[in-house]
Amino acid sequence: AGTAPADDDDTAAAAAADEYHAEAMDAKATLQDERKTLPVYKLKDDLLKAIDEHQVLIVVGETGSGKTTQIPQYLHEVGYTAGGRKKVACTQPRRVAAMSVAARVAEEMGVKLGHEVGYSIRFEDCTSEKTVIKYMTDGMLLREFLGEPDLGSYSVVVVDEAHERTLATDILFGLVKDIARLRPDMKLLISSATLNADKFSDFFDAAPVFRIPGRRFEVGIHYTVAPEADYIDATWDTEAAAAANGKVTELVICPIYANLPAELQAKIFEPTPTGVLKVVLATNIADAETPYNPRTAMESFLVAPPAPAGARKVVLATNIAETSLTIDGIKYVVDPGFCKVKSYNPRTGMESLVVAPVSRASAEQRAGRSGRTGPGECFRLYTEYNFVSDLDDDAVPEIQRSNLASVVLALKALGINDLVGFDFMDPPPAESLLRALEELFALGALNSRGELTKTGRRMAEFPLDPMLSKAIVASERYGCSEEVITIAAMLSTGNAVFYRPRDKRVHADAARRAFHAGNAGDHVALLNVYNAWAESGYSPQWCRESFVQHRTMRRARDVRDQLGALLERVEIAPCSSAGGGDLDAVRKAVTAGYFRHAARLQRDGSYRAVKSRQTVFVHPSSGVAQAPPRWALYHELVLTTKEYMRQVTELKPEWLVEIAPHYYERKDVDEPEPKKKTAAATPQEQTTAGSTPTKQTPNLNSFF
Ligand code: ADP
Ligand code: MG
Repeated sequence: AGTAPADDDDTAAAAAADEYHAEAMDAKATLQDERKTLPVYKLKDDLLKAIDEHQVLIVVGETGSGKTTQIPQYLHEVGYTAGGRKKVACTQPRRVAAMSVAARVAEEMGVKLGHEVGYSIRFEDCTSEKTVIKYMTDGMLLREFLGEPDLGSYSVVVVDEAHERTLATDILFGLVKDIARLRPDMKLLISSATLNADKFSDFFDAAPVFRIPGRRFEVGIHYTVAPEADYIDATWDTEAAAAANGKVTELVICPIYANLPAELQAKIFEPTPTGVLKVVLATNIADAETPYNPRTAMESFLVAPPAPAGARKVVLATNIAETSLTIDGIKYVVDPGFCKVKSYNPRTGMESLVVAPVSRASAEQRAGRSGRTGPGECFRLYTEYNFVSDLDDDAVPEIQRSNLASVVLALKALGINDLVGFDFMDPPPAESLLRALEELFALGALNSRGELTKTGRRMAEFPLDPMLSKAIVASERYGCSEEVITIAAMLSTGNAVFYRPRDKRVHADAARRAFHAGNAGDHVALLNVYNAWAESGYSPQWCRESFVQHRTMRRARDVRDQLGALLERVEIAPCSSAGGGDLDAVRKAVTAGYFRHAARLQRDGSYRAVKSRQTVFVHPSSGVAQAPPRWALYHELVLTTKEYMRQVTELKPEWLVEIAPHYYERKDVDEPEPKKKTAAATPQEQTTAGSTPTKQTPNLNSFF
């Protein structure tokens, strides 16, 4: 156990430590009391008996009943962790949930996070050899199969939040069902917050369902009388009413969303001063990527609940607060009725985030958040008629609306070749599977028989989108692995690199332009930022002066270190081309992964994607926005008011044919600039162009 990180207690402060210790003991006692009040506690013995008697058990219980935090502890207490030789895994669809729940359980057990209780999320492994209870994202457990196909180090696997039906969870269902047959010693729990568990039971060979009786106080439901055309507008009306009331109470606003830095996440769990009420807003407007300012939006909700004296704590949440995180003491819920969902068009291969109406199941969960510790109220910003007639019962599982390239690559790497025969709870559309196979073939990850190639095997080692993995693997050929992992790390942080304070916009823009010298393109600009920061000795001061987020940079450095280790694993030597000034080598390596994202400038200043023929635009934040190149390569599309290309780099069209000859023909890049079409002709053209077969069509039948 000597490998666990050392405690960094300051031994000098002995007296303070004693006092702290006494307080901690008190806190521990209260925590233990709290644990006993949870609904699952009363059923502890029955639950453990059911687990003992059945290999697979479906556990269903209201949010907050203690499924996530308590069950792994019970299993540990009665010996499933075999004195430290075996682990209990508990998967979560979201990183934030995995981290926060692990922190809570470590606290309840009085251990340091990362010791007996830890978590594992992409690019962040907070576990040690001591770890026996491991919370992890479902995607990370999927990756663990690559290293340990029978999950032999785990005695119990809890697939938690099963009702969320994320892509990774759905794939896990098939994989864990299979290993449960191979490993009679392993226990499998499928845990869900929604009461409709029959589907899970059916899938797992009629596994018994263990129900934790709910404890829910009454929740008053309020609807709007007429549909709201725009929920943000609706909030302004509400605010006007607030002003008429005269009294504006202070708000403590705590946003919670997946990309929020961990330091700030903890705020939602901080004890709220007495007299302060909590309101949770389950929507996606807290997401940093939306143009809405959460504070403005939230302030508009001031009067929705009856105005109390004193401040209100407002948790502004994405749908992470629906079931994944239990926040105590919520009195009011404002539910705008929308969520952001991934949608995928297999014909164009385009994945995008769209704001869509919630399902009835989600709306019920949102409302339920206000009735956990006392009676609550839920304000739905839609009509009762909408609720009854327009909303779907359940959300469509993610597997049916996602690009599957990444999971197909993982399955192939696990030696699962028969994808159609894979045991899916709900199978993905055949067209999406075909698309994924085509994409992996085009990237060189699969050969024409659908078998994993050496390139594919290497790509599968990286926990990244296959296109980004391919760029890294291709960097070997172009002699620029150092540069490409830097770019990959910068692209993977998920957070903004630059910031632009209101009063210093001119300075910030100038600083930013400096990284784009020579119209370098956004990818190279990211590289320049990282290298300049590294040269400064990773200085926070440098970040401030350059209007660069230090927190994002620290994370990029961390991710880069891990990508460096993975490079070594796949035996790609560190090499650098930019040292010799060859940035085209770097751009070519990126093209080797992203050639499908090539677009050509049109006369009207828009771009047209070369293959999908979709009309797209340079994002205004891009460094190339001022001088748009004739040919461009983009990292991703974001849909706001238009389809915007984000992270754009100039491309030489001949690279496409050179780098991806199986995907592009000369005529794709040689054609004279298309004549401006009438608007009416465009959709039709898109339809036919989208289905044009690629030049060298693999024999798709042999893929299955
Ligand atoms: P379930 O998984 O059934 O929804 P949980 O095990 O998540 O329930 O929650 C049980 C209790 O633990 C709740 O009262 C909740 O408030 C508390 N809890 C969970 N996570 C945290 C945390 N990070 N901080 C404080 N309390 C927490
Ligand atoms: Mg839970």
